[in-house]
Amino acid sequence: MRGEVKSIAASDGFALEVATAQGSRRIRANRLVNAAGPYLRDVGAMLGEDVPVKCVYQQKISFADELHSIPRGMPFTIDLDDQVLAWSAEDRELLAGNAATRYLTQPMKGGIHCRPDGPADGTWIKLGWAFNDASSDPHGEEPVDPHFPDTVLRGASRLHPKLAAYVGRLPRGAHHYGGWYTMTEENWPLIGPMKTPGAFIAGALSGYGTMAACATGALCAAWVTGNPVPDYAKALSFERYSDSELMAELAGLGKGAL
Ligand SMILES: Cc1cc2nc3c(=O)[nH]c(=O)nc-3n(C[C@H](O)[C@H](O)[C@H](O)COP(=O)(O)OP(=O)(O)OC[C@H]3O[C@@H](n4cnc5c(N)ncnc54)[C@H](O)[C@@H]3O)c2cc1C
Repeated sequence: MRGEVKSIAASDGFALEVATAQGSRRIRANRLVNAAGPYLRDVGAMLGEDVPVKCVYQQKISFADELHSIPRGMPFTIDLDDQVLAWSAEDRELLAGNAATRYLTQPMKGGIHCRPDGPADGTWIKLGWAFNDASSDPHGEEPVDPHFPDTVLRGASRLHPKLAAYVGRLPRGAHHYGGWYTMTEENWPLIGPMKTPGAFIAGALSGYGTMAACATGALCAAWVTGNPVPDYAKALSFERYSDSELMAELAGLGKGAL
């Protein structure tokens, strides 16, 4: 059923109120999986639970690489090294003089994504850079950064110098879009039982949820059906918060998002 879960009453299983295009429906379920992405907290709250996640907005651009700056056979490439963007002395001074743009003149963390997009004989490419660290409310307006296309092009052109030809000249029809990385503080996912008996969670997949989708689904299904789960399953569930040694180790690793 396609619709929005509005409320959940938990007693003798779950009674869900779902808003659909045909009106409000009530459905009953013995078990429930909270896989609400940026809205994990909302569904958690319907069960009276706090889900410890935050949402961090990240952006991408895609465009037709008419100059063939990226070979179609190039694999998905991530430049992991930190960098300071190259600016003219005049631009640097202007940007540094404004509190809103000063970050563009300071060292920025690595993690710039670049890959050909679509068919081998196509021209589209995709660029992304998850440098934003500020969490925001996924119910609010998307905090789109108008500087992002220029910033990611400049950053990506360090590893792929031919991309510099697009700085200030992004082809017509280019897309600039974004979405929220839903993350725990330690940037590990939450997959497994919630506190409420019969309720499970599969989420906080941050910037790796497309890659991790199948494994997440398989692991969550094993928890739901009571099948054996692998050794690492507890560390990916709420249970890790009672393992102070693991949490200390994760805190020491830093929080780099993909
Ligand atoms: C710009 C960007 C680029 C990314 N690039 C990559 C990448 O290259 N590789 C990669 O692996 N990952 C990438 N990711 C991350 C990936 O998109 C996410 O990790 C993944 O989508 C999370 O999946 P999910 O199923 O947990 O949540 P979502 O995909 O957000 O799905 C949650 C679903 O729950 C629904 N929902 C929420 N609340 C309710 C409710 N009350 N009732 C009913 N339905 C509800 C929503 O409508 C939605 O359909 C990227 C993310 C962003 C933002």
